[in-house]
Amino acid sequence: MGRGLAVVRGIALVGLRPLEVRVEATCSPGLPVLKLVGLPDAAVREAGERVRTAIQRHGLRWPGERVVVNLAPADLPKVGSSFDLPLAIAVLAATGQVPMAAASRTWACGELGLDGSVRAVTGQLPLVAGARQLGARELLVPAGAAAEAALVTGLTPVPVTDLTEVVAALEGRRRVAPLEPVRPCPGPAAPDLADVRGQPLARRAVELAAAGGHHLLLTGPPGCGKTMLAERLHGLLPDLTTDEAIEVAAIHSLAGERRPDDPLRIRPPLRAPHQVVSAAALVGGGAGVPRPGELSLAHRGVLVLDELLEIPRAVLDALRQPLERGEVVLSRARARISYPGAVLLVGATNPCPCGHLGDPRRACTCRPDRIERYRARLSGPLLDRLDLQVPLQPVARAALVDGSPGEATAVVAARVAAARTAAAERWEPGRLNRDADAALLRRTTTRPALARLAAALTGLGASARAFDRMLRVARTIADLEGREVVGPGHVDEAVAYRLPPVPVSA
Ligand SMILES: [Zn+2]
Repeated sequence: MGRGLAVVRGIALVGLRPLEVRVEATCSPGLPVLKLVGLPDAAVREAGERVRTAIQRHGLRWPGERVVVNLAPADLPKVGSSFDLPLAIAVLAATGQVPMAAASRTWACGELGLDGSVRAVTGQLPLVAGARQLGARELLVPAGAAAEAALVTGLTPVPVTDLTEVVAALEGRRRVAPLEPVRPCPGPAAPDLADVRGQPLARRAVELAAAGGHHLLLTGPPGCGKTMLAERLHGLLPDLTTDEAIEVAAIHSLAGERRPDDPLRIRPPLRAPHQVVSAAALVGGGAGVPRPGELSLAHRGVLVLDELLEIPRAVLDALRQPLERGEVVLSRARARISYPGAVLLVGATNPCPCGHLGDPRRACTCRPDRIERYRARLSGPLLDRLDLQVPLQPVARAALVDGSPGEATAVVAARVAAARTAAAERWEPGRLNRDADAALLRRTTTRPALARLAAALTGLGASARAFDRMLRVARTIADLEGREVVGPGHVDEAVAYRLPPVPVSA
């Protein structure tokens, strides 16, 4: 005779969006078989065998009758091994080995070893954060992931190392001391902007990019310091808040790039994938449940794409929508999955295939038609989104060796922080000028400045979308000066970053 229906709660993730999964178990007379219902994924089917072995080898009783386990809702994609723990608890409750009432209040996620140990899974942090969002106040978690789980406020993680501790926790025999969350870690010191000699235009563009979140394109021959500048731009960004750092860590956890005992990084991420990156690796994707790509791993930080024109056009095109929306939407037959992806993009490219167009040290050997084809790879719409376009000259040897140091990162970062604060106060908390509303933006701009921009636009042959983008850069220039309104001078500087590149005949 069955002893009723045991229900335990687990968590499924669609992207970073959590959904409640009810794990239900019943026992009934019949052959001692385990039947799993509502499980499309092979890993979860294997969970049945793993849970049975773990329960038996841990000295607990596997029922000598028919066990039916259902994971509901049935149409939800359930992947991974995080349902092992709720599944085991449901079976233990259905067979009277833990109190049914306690099980019905329990949220749990974790993988079981064949010896009955409880282990952390990929994406453990977003699962814990998700449980909190779904209303869980307490959650059974693998002990190895407990300090990380303690980062999530409003939820008490109950760490368990094996099934014996799980039983004790459900019987109310396990007292848990408050956990110390994993420590925030600033990470290694970033290289300093003072190391960059010369390059006043590039230094200024890097400051504007950091202050307003504007995407940056650096064009110049090899060895002119493109990578050096990108790293220093990252050093100008303010630290993440704890909530932001948890969000970033959750994405890295989901991608399998973070272990639960890793410190919480409060510096924004810096990602620089190789130019042979695929579209799936860049924006996310892959078979089954799509993984977050480099763009999402760089969320709230800097994504550097070196040799931008060596990246296939189709891959670059995949960036356009996410850059506009700050998130990646991946459509699948059964679900629409989105991942955050608000990045500051830094593209770097040679001016031509050989790299030396406009280089006084060495003559360019490229035919004009090859240069045209090379540049055509950077499609108009993507180029449109790179607000700050900076041609770099090779730095003269004298400037590298003897040039006086430029301003240090600490000095520039203070201006960047003040400009970001001004923008956030004007728009809304956390909003950068890059994402400013166009209508509101115009209200903080003088009429002569708007007229100047309209005139410049005609000369550049730029799109209407480019008008607002240039105005956003001008807004950042004014913010760095501490000005309430954008004037013609600010517009003039913003327009200068849209000058056509070095002509092909140079
Ligand atoms: Zn060339």
